[in-house]
Amino acid sequence: MDTVDESLKQHGLRLTPARRQIVEILMNHAYALSQHEIEQKLTLEADRVTVYRTLLTLIEVGLVTKILDERGQRFLLCRGEKKAENAHFKCTDCGHIEAIENSIVLPVALPQGYVLQNHNVLITGTCAVCNENKP
Ligand SMILES: [Zn+2]
Repeated sequence: MDTVDESLKQHGLRLTPARRQIVEILMNHAYALSQHEIEQKLTLEADRVTVYRTLLTLIEVGLVTKILDERGQRFLLCRGEKKAENAHFKCTDCGHIEAIENSIVLPVALPQGYVLQNHNVLITGTCAVCNENKP
């Protein structure tokens, strides 16, 4: 597994304190975090704009992915080699959103004349942890 600094360097980014800490926080969570949750875990002084801009930069280089649901946007570290083929799974019990590696089989069937740029698949259900804890 890559370290925080290696991940930033591999994506051509300078090592700033905010980038290092935000990537570290995301690396330590298997599920997606809201900006507010990230801000609460930061130990360095960073205002909301700095956190948001840092997240945008990390998304731009493909290190972080943004997931939208009815609660707003959440951020998840991209893991694995075929990141583009990950779907996201949202547990309706605990609310955690995680990536399911290599879960999308490409190519997606599109009508003739359409060109795929990106896909954003959010699968809902209940996760293994919640299912284990059911009576
Ligand atoms: Zn769950």
